[in-house]
Amino acid sequence: MKILTVIGARPQFIKAAVVSRALSEHRPDVREILVHTGQHYDTNMSEVFFEELHIPRPDYNLGIGGGTHGQNTGRMLEKIEELLLSEKPDWTLVYGDTDSTLAGALAAAKQHVPVAHIEAGLRSFNRRMPEEINRVLTDHLASLLFAPTDIARANLLREGVEPDSIRVVGDVMYDAALYYQARARKPAWFDALDIPIDAFVLCTIHRAENTDDPICLRGILAGLEGSELPVILPLHPRTRGKLESMALRLPANIRAVDPVGYLEMAWLEAHCKLIATDSGGVQKEAYFHRKPCVTLRGETEWVELVSHGCNLIAGHSPEAIMAHIKSCQFPAGIDGLYGNGESAPLIARSIR
Ligand code: UDP
Repeated sequence: MKILTVIGARPQFIKAAVVSRALSEHRPDVREILVHTGQHYDTNMSEVFFEELHIPRPDYNLGIGGGTHGQNTGRMLEKIEELLLSEKPDWTLVYGDTDSTLAGALAAAKQHVPVAHIEAGLRSFNRRMPEEINRVLTDHLASLLFAPTDIARANLLREGVEPDSIRVVGDVMYDAALYYQARARKPAWFDALDIPIDAFVLCTIHRAENTDDPICLRGILAGLEGSELPVILPLHPRTRGKLESMALRLPANIRAVDPVGYLEMAWLEAHCKLIATDSGGVQKEAYFHRKPCVTLRGETEWVELVSHGCNLIAGHSPEAIMAHIKSCQFPAGIDGLYGNGESAPLIARSIR
């Protein structure tokens, strides 16, 4: 069986690291062709993950990044269609909710190649997010939908997705967190910051709804400025660009660094006091590391974290961010929200 996997963005590299390894256990019956769309292309947003997570080199790199959603999706569609025609895979595998996800799923569905979608059924119910549009459409193009939770499954059933096509498998990011935990690495620059371990906020900001709106970005920065703890901010290239174009200066307690690799991120997550983020993946990693999380968005797809008190929703209100950073605690006794760390082998067996 030949599987054509389409990835292109940072969180997809991390998810593919564990799933590709699980698929490789089924060789030679299963053969995976890896396509990198090029959506993320900076060394510290792409290359570093392939190197340190030992992801196989992509068989194809389409080099499509830096454009608008329409430009990227259109160019990806065209190139992926060519690959589907030449490679003739039995399945196409896509992850999450990026333009690469939608392009892979749409190109495959039109060529009658069945699509498997990992991280199916997630919903923010906010159609202003490009990610929400990508995930809804991808779920409705897919033949095999790997939902991380029962809530995600229920979302799919409500939209009329065929029950037999859904598998609740837990979250492959939990597999990754467990697998790479022992290799977590302190960033080389950490000691020079002179910030004690367990006494900083780890922050990431990259959602378009925050970075593209000066009111949101200012609100978030004002909220973080009110934190008594220093804030370490690995700065996503989009956010860096927007800060520059809006001429926004970071408050003195925010220490911006370049994006880090996964192993350094895992170390920072394990050694911070709390996490403030608009990232989907980082919200879950806060939970894996037993750290309280303040979400810098008005809603989250990972609703179980909120209902169990692991995650407080702050949006971009400075007052809410300050208050939540002060008050949030990780609750005791919350386990097993995202499976048992064996999602990737389950997915590989299921596809086979
Ligand atoms: N991440 C990383 N380095 C960073 C920031 C994030 O390795 O500087 C990892 C993080 O640990 C998580 C993933 O990137 O595994 C989340 O990706 P991102 O926040 O870009 O996307 P989202 O999860 O919001 O789709």
